[in-house]
Amino acid sequence: MPAHKVVNPITSVSPVNPVRTLAESFTLTGRGLHGNKPCSVTVTPAEQGGLRFLHVPTGVIIPAKADYAGDLSLATTLVKDGARLQTVEHILSALYGLGVDHALIRADGGELPILDGSAAPWTKAISQAGLKDLPGARRCMRVLRQVEVQNENRYVCVSPHRGLRLSCAIDFPCSAIGRQSLELIVTPGNYRRELAEARTFCLKSEIDAMQSRGMALGGSLDNAVVYDDDGCLNERLRFEDEAVRHKMLDLVGDLALLGAPLMGYVEARAAGHAMHVALVKKLLSEPDAWTIAEAEPIPVRGGMFRPGFAHAHAHAHGLAAV
Ligand SMILES: [Zn+2]
Repeated sequence: MPAHKVVNPITSVSPVNPVRTLAESFTLTGRGLHGNKPCSVTVTPAEQGGLRFLHVPTGVIIPAKADYAGDLSLATTLVKDGARLQTVEHILSALYGLGVDHALIRADGGELPILDGSAAPWTKAISQAGLKDLPGARRCMRVLRQVEVQNENRYVCVSPHRGLRLSCAIDFPCSAIGRQSLELIVTPGNYRRELAEARTFCLKSEIDAMQSRGMALGGSLDNAVVYDDDGCLNERLRFEDEAVRHKMLDLVGDLALLGAPLMGYVEARAAGHAMHVALVKKLLSEPDAWTIAEAEPIPVRGGMFRPGFAHAHAHAHGLAAV
């Protein structure tokens, strides 16, 4: 099975770190993974307010913030004033991973469309719409000391780092997934190349139980990787370690609930939405553990300076078994 991988591509990034929104709106339609209902989403530029959802049936605006996190089993749900939006994590992951700071996401149903189960349709639509720089410096949440959450064998922590660096490890009893781990410096280029295409996944043995709870009703091999002990039921995997890459994609989406770009190193072992959001809430509740700062220029080889989010060195990191 895949061993721990460290991804270390050199990225091309802007020498400045602007606040960004979309240049134009875009709309994607599809069906919800869990409710299997048709849904349409229009993402529009915004000059302020961070990433926010408009639940069109009720007119309620739900900021993408951990304060509004609801049910976190199998998907990230946001709730506010009676409005409920399910499966928000992939669009948030794409926006946060590509450095979009402000946007209004108009959702006409109770769930975001699952599309192909990855964030790639979102990143492609964002790229086609284009990004627009806004005035002012980009304000980041810089971690000053370690904060951690543990629940039996599940563990997440964040510690200081001068960019956004993530490390994920999973260990499934299903031999087709097994133990996988990945470490990545998250830049827009790395996000697109290494994470965006990774699809959501489940075990074949879990499907009946999920569907009897009214979950995954829209799931199919067109929008999820399904594993059994012999391998995956889909025609092919997009990455040998697609499962851990999707876990990291989900982590990026849940970190968006911080409400600001993160400068820190997040390690997640056997974690999922509930653990990710628990870490976000714990970090937000300990204001001495972070500060709001502009991304700092940091020296790289050859004396060049690049902003914090451009730091493109990934380091091998020994992970304890999960
Ligand atoms: Zn996911």
